[in-house]
Amino acid sequence: MALVAKVLLALAAVTGCAQAHDAPVNCDSCAEWNQPVKPFNVYGNTWYVGVDGLSSVLVTGPQGHILLDGGLPQSAPLIEANIKALGFRMQDVKLIVNSHAHWDHAGGIAALQRASGAIVGASQSGALVLQSGTNGVDDPQYEANPVVHVAKVAKVKVVQEGEVLKVGSIGVTAHMTPGHTPGSTTWTWTSCEGHRCLDVVYADSLNPYASGKFSFTGKGKTPDISASFAASIAKVAALKCDIILSVHPDATGMMEKAAARTPDSNPFIGADGCREYAAIAGQRLTKRIAQERGE
Ligand SMILES: [Zn+2]
Repeated sequence: MALVAKVLLALAAVTGCAQAHDAPVNCDSCAEWNQPVKPFNVYGNTWYVGVDGLSSVLVTGPQGHILLDGGLPQSAPLIEANIKALGFRMQDVKLIVNSHAHWDHAGGIAALQRASGAIVGASQSGALVLQSGTNGVDDPQYEANPVVHVAKVAKVKVVQEGEVLKVGSIGVTAHMTPGHTPGSTTWTWTSCEGHRCLDVVYADSLNPYASGKFSFTGKGKTPDISASFAASIAKVAALKCDIILSVHPDATGMMEKAAARTPDSNPFIGADGCREYAAIAGQRLTKRIAQERGE
């Protein structure tokens, strides 16, 4: 190894921040999505630390914290700044989990992992994408010559259905909700304020969006996934769900809820959040399937 490279690596080890930047992604919505926002409390130990259009959620505990999603590669420094602005330390982030391995939710994970030293957890299919940096042909948004890759994560722990990943006394549960991607995962946990504990759901995208000739009904080169997609939507609707958070904040009005919050009322709390989110997804899937079948 050249001496210069050695010195740089040593410097990186000393400074311990996300200094090694991954290439930014330039998409039509990226600049708009990546607008900085002030971090805010959702409920109890659940905090929003993401950017304006892409969620990143921090669940804090006395023995360390759990971070859900990392936005774009260029979101990573903003997420890191938000975590620090709340008074938390990057080195206390012990676990980072992913909803789905597209570059707008997983792109910043590699840099955030390097900045924290956290373990990264994802579904089996998600882990493959995070480690290889490339989506598979079974991804509805796969393109034969993908322009945009996910920044590679060196090591990923594969998570199974129903598995609870713990950091000390806190933990998040994985619910496989395939459809938007084959590895899509919805995460749940409990947050308390005093004796009032609520079920929080970080719902993955249930949007049947596809690029190219991908077919959800098995008309292309991939199998019919319409039934398993519908099952994922039903699964989210049935979750214990006092608070729903979505991977794109606007899908559940998260910024409006944050703005409307007062010391006496918390608009994030609601009995119907997951059912309403699932109902919209169900309508989209029904429409998409009808289109594919030529109905
Ligand atoms: Zn996506």
